Amino acid sequence: MKKIGIFGGTFDPIHHGHLILACEAIETLALDVVIFVPAAASPHKLQGESASAEARLEMVRAALEGEPHFASDAMELERPPPSYAIDTMETLRQREPDAQFFYLVGEDNVARLETWHRFADLAKLVQFIVLDRTGRPGEYAYPVIRRHLDISATDIRNRVARGQSIRYLVPPSVEKIIFERQLYRES
Ligand code: ATP
Repeated sequence: MKKIGIFGGTFDPIHHGHLILACEAIETLALDVVIFVPAAASPHKLQGESASAEARLEMVRAALEGEPHFASDAMELERPPPSYAIDTMETLRQREPDAQFFYLVGEDNVARLETWHRFADLAKLVQFIVLDRTGRPGEYAYPVIRRHLDISATDIRNRVARGQSIRYLVPPSVEKIIFERQLYRES
């Protein structure tokens, strides 16, 4: 049976925390692929100074290039916002009726998981997998991938706004897009 990981997020920008944990998920769960699905507008967070959907998608595609176990899907950007995981999963289930789906979610989002739109339906379609974010052992109802990487998109945006380096936090291809498009500069 095909095993597919789904990684939703704003990816504003995608960073090495996302990428390393997705690799870890592939190895731990023996996934065939992880599909990164950038959200149009996150129903879970308020946006500050942020990049356009198009720029975020461009950065995701650039970051995944050359990794055969990674893929991206722009379906949430093609639907009117807000982006709900259940809509995405119903589409993917139709496409892959026999696959087993694993939905990757960072530890910071787990407490609110049950408030997600049509959570009960979503929970029937996917196995949630928690990604370590604190490095502290927590008790969860779902399997946890333990690998603590203290990298966040908020910190990356702030660093760019302050003129600090983001080298090694994001792939060079993503860093190039951020600087060429002048993203995250203070307005
Ligand atoms: P922001 O700082 O803007 O909130 P973020 O770094 O959390 O962004 P998102 O695009 O919101 O990035 O993340 C997508 C998913 O990946 C979320 O479930 C988030 O919790 C998780 N995630 C992001 N960074 C990490 C990390 N370093 N370790 C574990 N999970 C992460």
